[in-house]
Amino acid sequence: MILPDIIQLLPDNIANQIAAGEVIQRPASAVKELLENAVDAGANEIRLIVNDAGKALIQVIDNGKGMSETDARMAFERHATSKIKSIDDLFTIKTMGFRGEALASIAAVAQVELKSKREEDETGVFIEIENSQVIKQEPIATATGTSIAMKNLFFNVPARRNFLKSNAAELRHIVDEFIRVAMSFPEIFFSFTSNGQQVFYLEKGSMKQRLVQILGNSYVSKLVPVQEQTDYLNIYGFVGKPETAKKTRGDQYFFVNNRFIKSAYLNHAVMNAFDEMIAKDSFPMYCLFIDLDPSQVDINVHPTKQEIKFEDEKIVYAFVQSAVKHALAQFSITPTLDFELDASIQSLDAVSKPFTEEKKSSASSSSLYNSFTKKHQSHFIESKSELKHWKSFYDKPQESSIETQVDTPALLNTNIKLQTDNLVQLHNSFILMQTEKGYYLVHQQNAHERILYERFALAVEGKPIATQQSLFPATMELAAADAVLLNELLPDMHQLGYQLEPFGNNTFVIQGTPADISGGGSQGAVSEKTAIEKMLEQYKHFSSDLKFSKREKLLRSLALQHSVKAGTVLSAKEMKVLVEDLFNCQTPNSTANGKPTYLEFKKDELDKLFGR
Ligand code: ADP
Ligand code: MG
Repeated sequence: MILPDIIQLLPDNIANQIAAGEVIQRPASAVKELLENAVDAGANEIRLIVNDAGKALIQVIDNGKGMSETDARMAFERHATSKIKSIDDLFTIKTMGFRGEALASIAAVAQVELKSKREEDETGVFIEIENSQVIKQEPIATATGTSIAMKNLFFNVPARRNFLKSNAAELRHIVDEFIRVAMSFPEIFFSFTSNGQQVFYLEKGSMKQRLVQILGNSYVSKLVPVQEQTDYLNIYGFVGKPETAKKTRGDQYFFVNNRFIKSAYLNHAVMNAFDEMIAKDSFPMYCLFIDLDPSQVDINVHPTKQEIKFEDEKIVYAFVQSAVKHALAQFSITPTLDFELDASIQSLDAVSKPFTEEKKSSASSSSLYNSFTKKHQSHFIESKSELKHWKSFYDKPQESSIETQVDTPALLNTNIKLQTDNLVQLHNSFILMQTEKGYYLVHQQNAHERILYERFALAVEGKPIATQQSLFPATMELAAADAVLLNELLPDMHQLGYQLEPFGNNTFVIQGTPADISGGGSQGAVSEKTAIEKMLEQYKHFSSDLKFSKREKLLRSLALQHSVKAGTVLSAKEMKVLVEDLFNCQTPNSTANGKPTYLEFKKDELDKLFGR
């Protein structure tokens, strides 16, 4: 029997749909491609319009050079590009695009309408495409430039449409991509409208103005310019002063030849330059542009071009590190100028190698090892003394075995009498409380965090927390990305006693805050505004944790933010309330994030320690 041949060529529209999977993963990828095309077309005004987080509509309107009728048709073919002609061109590339895949991919997975006109043409061209098929083409009166509208992304690939995240999440991805393009081209006007609301309106200006427009006014006096020119590469941009370092990785940007890239390696170089100036677990703001001969980079290693390969990574690392160090030193932020920038590649290469190796090994061994061994001190104690019972003496309550613990609330009421009248505060951070069997050492901040977390959790489930009206409502202007985030959290925040009203232009009015959340470190000294900003910061810190719901992250952030900080003096009454509230909690023994709230020290173990 002869079996028939089975291989067939895929029809174009299916091949395009498959190829589209690489380039257009979500609305934000289409936004990136369309914005980059507008930049490549030489536009100096670019407008982005999205509806339903790009699921219903993504439109980019530019005043660039436009397309001829034929080019407009060609643009939607796969591998159709005006940007390279031969493989050699790949290594001298100056444009954002070059693969000729974006428009073909978009046309395969959305309904597309294009309007375009060149300066020299009388009339423009209108083209409508669906499923990679042109369904309409006609002359049209239109302004010079190009407008591309893509509707109903993935309308013909339901499986992919179902994979999209919530509008809030997709919109955040779009904001990220928009920011990345808008940052590198401050000489271009950009605007961004979402569901008819203006999210960004970025006038042409200097790099610094653009950064402040995007990241918020708080950076205005906090940016240190970085600027080094050498024969091999130029670095320019800004780093935030050390005091602007945050708990989240948020505002960190590298651009290579104006293209946003992700590079853990170069990030390490910046972190090294900031060494000692910022807390270990904090992230400095930076926005750095590295320009070098395109032949020294391969941008074709990743479909979305966010990862690139340098011809000589080590040199770039050394340059970035020294440029940032130099900038920080010049602004007399570092006490001594301990580093001379040497433009010669040879010496930098030599400097960089031992430095990186040394840093690497110290990071992997000492800090992790030390913090681990210090935390429980078992290593230290066991080797120096012969205490066999140290472990049971130092009895950390386990969350997993709450049910069997002596100190669940129900048992507590019957078995242990809380002696909350003679509490002692130690180091303004701990509360010492005698129990029948020994004593508890309560960590005041962790304890308060647990109390607040449970109170907030109850409030979002049912009875809202009362609002205390602000006497003088404060307005708060946020960076656009943060405004998007806060809008998303508003309903839950209302339930928790926050009365916040959106006021347009990323501004909110704080009309009231939770009434009975006093006692937190936020009273008085820290303004409501700062408290909310810090809460957002904390929220973003949790955001990478996919296992938590939006609400859970909010509760944890608020509890952490409002908890009374270590170092705060507490009155006898405050200590009493804190301890009693703690042991009335459902889960008194740890914070929501798993840190212990108190440690138990048993009297008989103490006796043993003293040889009794
Ligand atoms: P690439 O950008 O990699 O060349 P695209 O599929 O994104 O591929 O675009 C194909 C071609 O269509 C571009 O090379 C360019 O000539 C043309 N084009 C796309 N968008 C625009 C625009 N906004 N203005 C002018 N020409 C455009
Ligand atoms: Mg392109």
